[in-house]
Amino acid sequence: NVRVRFAPSPTGGLHLGGVRTVLFNYLFARQNGGKFILRIEDTDQTRYVPGAEEYIQECLKWCGLHPDEGPENGGPYGPYRQSERKALYRQYAEQLVEQGYAYYAFDTPEELEQKRKDIANFQYGYFYRSQMRNSLSLDKDEVSKLLESGFPYVIRIKMPEDETVSFTDMIRGEVNFQTSQSDDKVLLKADGMPTYHLAVVVDDYLMKITHAFRGEEWLPSAPVHLLLWKYLGWKDEMPQWAHLPLILKPDGNGKLSKRDGARLGFPVYAMNWTDPNTGDLTPGFREIGFLPEAFINMLVMLGWNDGTDQEIFSLEQLTSKFSLERVNKAGAKFDYEKAKWFNSEWIKKLDKGELQQLVAEKLSEAGIDISDDSKLGSVIGLVKDRCHLLTDFVAQSSYFFKSPADYDLNAVKPKWTEAKQEFFEGFADFLLNNQSLTAQELEEKFKALAQEKGFKIGDVMLPYRVMLVGGKFGPAVFDITKLIGEEEAVTRVKKALG
Ligand code: GLU
Repeated sequence: NVRVRFAPSPTGGLHLGGVRTVLFNYLFARQNGGKFILRIEDTDQTRYVPGAEEYIQECLKWCGLHPDEGPENGGPYGPYRQSERKALYRQYAEQLVEQGYAYYAFDTPEELEQKRKDIANFQYGYFYRSQMRNSLSLDKDEVSKLLESGFPYVIRIKMPEDETVSFTDMIRGEVNFQTSQSDDKVLLKADGMPTYHLAVVVDDYLMKITHAFRGEEWLPSAPVHLLLWKYLGWKDEMPQWAHLPLILKPDGNGKLSKRDGARLGFPVYAMNWTDPNTGDLTPGFREIGFLPEAFINMLVMLGWNDGTDQEIFSLEQLTSKFSLERVNKAGAKFDYEKAKWFNSEWIKKLDKGELQQLVAEKLSEAGIDISDDSKLGSVIGLVKDRCHLLTDFVAQSSYFFKSPADYDLNAVKPKWTEAKQEFFEGFADFLLNNQSLTAQELEEKFKALAQEKGFKIGDVMLPYRVMLVGGKFGPAVFDITKLIGEEEAVTRVKKALG
């Protein structure tokens, strides 16, 4: 029975790499008729951020990646929040102490800080452990006295001095570690809470997790976890690991971070996230106008392909096609232009009504009155090909609903002359008196009038566009004229003529 889990720590918004981990978990579970579990790893109270768990839940809903078990819908192995399982972990830490695989450490934070100052690259491990205050260096009576007096302590794993630990990763194959490279990680903290290392092992065991997917950044923790599985006597039940390749900066230089998004002008988080402490907003894919189908599609392609040229996959198709064997070991460069391409492909797949509703939402979020439904449909038809994001529709179509707030005067009136002024005044009158003409007839008439007055078409066509739209963009200018109506067009021309 396949059981997988996504185990985020609620410390802030969800990076796109996190959503990709969810996706791989979800696909693997669906493919194997297994269960996908959401577990909230909130044992580090210093990093806990209110609202982050709700954000994660909402994100999974937006993406349509619903967990089978989790804090919201419960399940047979709950509770699914580690803070609610606190009482459970201590016994395992103490069992490890009894068996000699772990020990009590009484060093105060000040003492530890001092050591780090005194010794460059200090590592609390086999080399320095005897110089520290712990149940391995103190004599038995002293240890009992400290424990009885209620002196604060942590429990640390006793990493072997020189052992090779290895395991077979589903993506990377055999991976080896030297135990000397890791310090004696804390397992149980002074406040009685487990650390991530202890909690992840205990919970993967108790929740009967069979396969564990997580980001490559967790690979250095793997030897500690492997040893814990072994020391706790659960080695045969250890899940199979898959450490997913990193998502890299667009230039391939290191892991994509929140700061890269801000620097390069694209979202890195799934949805908008406002830090409750600072009020800082980190923009998200959802709010900038990605469809969840497109978001998921572009995420799966960061590190996976089906061996053909196909790039567009629905969640349903992925459920049958996805395979771990085809996940790359190497990191995948994030390409925002490509991400937008995925979105425009998915926008093309929407039916008229669906797209209209989504665009209507974005327009009214932007404060644009779109009560005229029939017009909205035609507007979308005209600008659709220019829009990669749902928010592009706002820029591309707001001028259909309200006159441009300001325009670039140089663009409206390049090399302005009295003759041009007269031409537009004449054209405005013509428009008002000929409201039954089609867009095409209007265009012909406009050109004829321009020629009559000796203008090059472009010299008057571009200013006309800017008068209507506010800039040098948009679909055919006489289609715009017909959609906003002749009276509105004339109002805008007059405004621009001043
Ligand atoms: N709580 C860890 C995180 O925040 C989970 C790592 C794992 O899946 O083991 O990413």
